[in-house]
This record gives sequence, C-alpha cells and structure tokens, in this order.
Amino acid sequence: MRIIDCHVHLNHYDGAPFKSLEERVQNLVNTMHASAVDSAIVLTSYVVNEDRPSLTKILEATKKHDNIAVVAGYSMDNHTDEDIRFYKDCLKDGRIKGLKLYCGYEHYYPYDKRYQRIYDMCIEYDVPAMFHTGDTFSARGKVRYSHPLNIDDVAVDNPSLKIVMCHLGNPWILDCQEVIYKNKNVYADISGFVVGEFTHSYEEFMADKIIELLNYAGEPRYLLYGTDWPISNMESYLKFVAGLDISEHARELLMYRNAESLFKI
Ligand SMILES: [Zn+2]
Repeated sequence: MRIIDCHVHLNHYDGAPFKSLEERVQNLVNTMHASAVDSAIVLTSYVVNEDRPSLTKILEATKKHDNIAVVAGYSMDNHTDEDIRFYKDCLKDGRIKGLKLYCGYEHYYPYDKRYQRIYDMCIEYDVPAMFHTGDTFSARGKVRYSHPLNIDDVAVDNPSLKIVMCHLGNPWILDCQEVIYKNKNVYADISGFVVGEFTHSYEEFMADKIIELLNYAGEPRYLLYGTDWPISNMESYLKFVAGLDISEHARELLMYRNAESLFKI
C-alpha cells in the first residue's frame, strides 16, 4: 500500500546527529526508503535559525527529490510582508503545498484576525492550512492557544478553507473529534504521539482513542498519516498503524488517499 507521511521536519533537534541540512535530507530519504514510505511532506519551522532552516533553504535542499513536498511554516512574529509575498509565489507555482501555523508555540489564537490573510491565501490556491494542536514540545508553549476547540471558529468562519489539525489535538482528542465531525472542511493528522518509539501499552492506549474517534466521526475521509519524524520514529509509527483494527478501505484513506487529494501529490 502507498504511504504518504504528511508531517516530517528537517530541523536539527538537540542531541540529534546530522548537523547539516544536506545530511538531514539524506537521512530522511534513507529512513523513508528503509520503511517503504513513498512520499513525505516537510513542514518548515516558525522560526529561522541555525537549527531551523528557512523555506528557501529547504526548497533548495529537497528540490531533486520528487517524493518530498514542502509546507511552509508561518509566524505572525517572525515573518514579514515580503515573506508572505514569497509564500504566495510558491503557492502559485506549486513549490509549497500548504501553510502551517504554530499556535501554542506562538501565543495567538487560530481565530486571531491577523491570520486571516493566510487563510485567504490558502483558499485562493486551494491548499490546506495546518495547525499545531494539543501539547507543545516546548514548555514555553502556551496550550490554551493550541487547544483544538479554537479551530472550530476558523472552520465555521471559513467554510471553504481546508484545515488540518496536527497531532489530533492530543491529549484533547475528544475535542478534536467533535471539531472534525461537525466541520466537513477539517482534517487531522496522527503525528507526534510519541517522542522516539511507542511502547506496547502506549500503542494500545492510542489505538483505543483512534477507534473511538472513528466510531464517533465516521468514515475517515478526514484522517491523515503523519509521524513528526525525526521526533517520532517512522518504523515504530508504521508498526503502530499496522496494529489498528480498521477496514482496508479506512486504511487506504488514512495512509495515502486523503493526503493525495488534499495536498495534490
Ligand atoms: Zn511537527
């Protein structure tokens, strides 16, 4: 079965090997190959520094890999009007497949009016707006901004905007599933459930939550496979989804069909 991992990063994280961006791209390619992952979508960061390459650098480093697509991180605090014009050009010619907002890391609600121009751009080019939802990897994040219920306002006020709630709003998966169920323009990815590898008991714990979500929200035309690699281990994630008790049709939607049509890859 085809596999699209819609949520990976090329940042350098503390203590990780592969200091240069080129090495990290090669590591991504090798890891995808080892796990038979066909395509991956790299999400760029909301900040640019030595460890977090700019969109320009990531586009350059990944351009010879047809199976690696890019979604651009946007930050109200760190990006200028010029950046937005560049993002628009990239959306126009297909160099980027969507935009990602880091609410929680950035201390603004998703429905903050200042984000509206980002949503308008996504609507204009028919690409998804991805949102960090749920727990933040950094203790400096403020989780009231990343709570999944905030997404409902954006979804209702922008019915033609396609929205992806990253991480299923974990640990607020119940809230996330209501927002998904209620709003047909909302999707969610299952990335970032674990730092490193799943334990057996944690696999069972999270599998129950996914089954509950499917029972509540119905056929998973909204659910996307993603890992948050390199924070989460790709092989361990595949083992986790392989253990989910779902139909073959649901598995196809989850593993590639939804991502294929949403990101047009
Ligand atoms: Zn991520």
